[in-house]
Amino acid sequence: MIRRHPLAIAICVTLAACAREQAPPFDLVIANGRVLDPESGLDAERHIGIRGGKIDVVSETPLKGGRVIDAARHIVSPGFIDLHEHGQQDESYRMMVRDGVTSAFELEVGTGDVAAWYAAREAGQIVNHGVSAGHIPARMKVLGDPGQGLLPAGIGGSGTATDAQMAAMEVILREGLAQGAVAIGFGSAYTPGAPISEIERMFRVAAEGGVSAHIHMRGGLKGLQETIAAAAAAHAALHIVHVNSSAGDEIDGFLTAITAARDGGQDVTTEAYPYGAGMTEIQSALFDEWQTWPEPRFALHQLVSTGQRLTRATFAKARAAGGTVIIHGRSEEQTRAAIASPLAMIASDGFIENGRGHPRTSGSYAKVLGKYVRDDKTVTLIDALRRMTLDPARRLERRTPAMLNKGRIKAGADADLTIFDPATVIDRATYEDATIASAGIPYVIVGGQLVVDGGNVTTARPGRAIRAPIATKSR
Ligand SMILES: [Zn+2]
Repeated sequence: MIRRHPLAIAICVTLAACAREQAPPFDLVIANGRVLDPESGLDAERHIGIRGGKIDVVSETPLKGGRVIDAARHIVSPGFIDLHEHGQQDESYRMMVRDGVTSAFELEVGTGDVAAWYAAREAGQIVNHGVSAGHIPARMKVLGDPGQGLLPAGIGGSGTATDAQMAAMEVILREGLAQGAVAIGFGSAYTPGAPISEIERMFRVAAEGGVSAHIHMRGGLKGLQETIAAAAAAHAALHIVHVNSSAGDEIDGFLTAITAARDGGQDVTTEAYPYGAGMTEIQSALFDEWQTWPEPRFALHQLVSTGQRLTRATFAKARAAGGTVIIHGRSEEQTRAAIASPLAMIASDGFIENGRGHPRTSGSYAKVLGKYVRDDKTVTLIDALRRMTLDPARRLERRTPAMLNKGRIKAGADADLTIFDPATVIDRATYEDATIASAGIPYVIVGGQLVVDGGNVTTARPGRAIRAPIATKSR
């Protein structure tokens, strides 16, 4: 549509309207919704016409479609983009999508084999998906860690790497980037054997590849300052994962330090999930000191497989057997401070396996919208949506141009959309049952197809790989 000459506007609009009348109907139309787009600031009733998986038009007048969804009294938002999701399988995707997520990334731990990771999901998934090349799995591979899960259970975490071993990790990370990894993942909290100099060396690989470094850091506020300094020295873009749990009661100091780095011109971003408990593998380095704990501390730990709170004896047993544990203990004020910060993107850090997991997998987005936006008025709606859509898209788009078409509602953008009722949206998953879907999100669209229709997950699998451009091998 040409709209350059002011005198031509009336004719063009008329012609466009005529063409629209005569054109075959859109594949799908979202009618009468309150459309919010954090990039343009649009907040108005509009009709969205979808064709070929893309948003074709955002119109003030009604449109005809093969199917028309009446979104009256509902918000139409860009689909939510989760930068921290370990559950990269159908069972987790089924929960996340009912929480409004349309693109899910595993960027913290990542993978040691990027090509295989994408190949395993090639048939199409419920949501779009992507991965980082991970320092943790690279280190586990190079040092020969015995861990069977995501995280080191021995030498991969605690061992010291030689110069040659670090060079071998760099090779794995570079290979991952060449295969289309969208970031590099780190977990210095899980690799206490890696000095900050090793982390900085791997940050340099991220800088060289033009990707952000996503890190679950260690060491509280001092650790944050060290991590920010290492990223600055390496000229790497830095993303601090789950600032709520990494900071704990130092949340104000964390947010101040990140703001200061940003004000100084450094590329530092962060994320949070809206729950007071964390979750991780019980054999990981986070619990290496467990034998020194006072008795009451064990009761803050809840075994995911059974929902049971632990004692010294049952903790010892579970630590030997392996598995996942939920860690209670942060205050509501700490969670609220993280969620209130305009710096914090919303990211779930979730997964569900065999019906068990953390409620953040299933409820993070609805909880922010229902509790923190509507009920508590801690965050404005548009700010919350920006941190669920546009900000995560922008974090990745420099290296992964596919993200330029996500996180926005405009003609030409991917038709990834979440439609929710602002009066009823809320999380329902609990620490005892994380498989209860969020309420108030009746329709979710991925690539122009309904993946949630009337609150139910459909059989459509339009979710595609989101990958950075793959390097073609030169001689
Ligand atoms: Zn995580």
